[in-house]
Amino acid sequence: MKRIYNFSAGPAILPEAVLREAADEMLDYQDSGMSVMEMSHRSKIFQKIIDDAEKDLRTLLNVPDNYKILFLQGGATTQFSMIPMNLMKNKKADFILTGNWAVKAFEEASKYGTVNAIASSEDKMYSYIPDLKNLEISEDADYVHMVDNNTIFGTKFYELPDTKGKVLVNDASSCFLSEPMDVSKYGLIFAGAQKNVGPAGTVIVIIREDLIIKDHLPYTPIMLRYDIHAESKSMYNTPPTYGIYLCGKVFKWLLNLGGLEAIQKINIEKAGLLYDYLDQSKLFYGTVEKKSRSLMNVCFKSTSPEIDDKFIKEAKAQGFDNLKGYRTVGGMRASIYNAMPIEGIRALVKFMEVFEKENLK
Ligand code: PMP
Repeated sequence: MKRIYNFSAGPAILPEAVLREAADEMLDYQDSGMSVMEMSHRSKIFQKIIDDAEKDLRTLLNVPDNYKILFLQGGATTQFSMIPMNLMKNKKADFILTGNWAVKAFEEASKYGTVNAIASSEDKMYSYIPDLKNLEISEDADYVHMVDNNTIFGTKFYELPDTKGKVLVNDASSCFLSEPMDVSKYGLIFAGAQKNVGPAGTVIVIIREDLIIKDHLPYTPIMLRYDIHAESKSMYNTPPTYGIYLCGKVFKWLLNLGGLEAIQKINIEKAGLLYDYLDQSKLFYGTVEKKSRSLMNVCFKSTSPEIDDKFIKEAKAQGFDNLKGYRTVGGMRASIYNAMPIEGIRALVKFMEVFEKENLK
């Protein structure tokens, strides 16, 4: 068996220990004689899996009691529709546009009401987080939408916008559980699992109870109603059972590691190794403003697209895979989620040093 260093932006690397445990339990989960994939979601044994997952996530994030945790499907993108359909009472929402995912959410919400871009970093290819002071929050905005970590461009919020009391909605897909988070600052947090938490197919929503309402837009499909999923504790229909099981294992892995403070320390060290190297390199450079740098997605380029291509090819041959930047952005992106061991970053930096020596003219 050969495992490579996988720098994919998502679906992404998962902790090897979690995968090994799941492999051991694949054919017979806890003497049930079945795989978790094969068991009824209404069984006692699965109920314990989802209950434990929720409990461990509550512990990890210190989720206040007046928030519900939902395990849903449809990826983060389904939330782009579900949020306006359920939260847009005044039919108005404000958006901070920091990249493709924010723009997609903005465009989708525009079908259901008026959307305002109250800040944007489009002028510089989304390479920074815009100034968050004195945002012109709409007086009757139902919510303000932000994307915590911008997977494609490699930026991250280091402070929260002042929403002047309006509900803050956070797409935390690509930094969820990478550091502590004060849940009480948000009305709704959502994250597709396939970056830091588990396999694609599960999306986690943490929503404040008073936002779970019955007066969603009248034509809202039943599967897109938070009240339905909250009342049935994520079991209105068959939930993504195997995904929830793996997410639960990742939560336990994080708890055993010491929780989110511990993983944050590791993540800062990991990203620091790579950024420090980039900052002194004569061949490579980081593409985002220093004070907006993501700890999860490190975007960089070399002195030419030809050298970028050569680098990506040679890196792959050496076991560093999925380093190609997003198709519209080019260059390189190293996604270094929680499960990427620090040895992976050390090995990558070493490889980059050698490559730099060989290719710097
Ligand atoms: N938001 C962010 C920040 C993302 O990175 C992604 C996926 N890369 C999405 C939303 C969309 O997620 P999904 O493919 O699960 O719909």
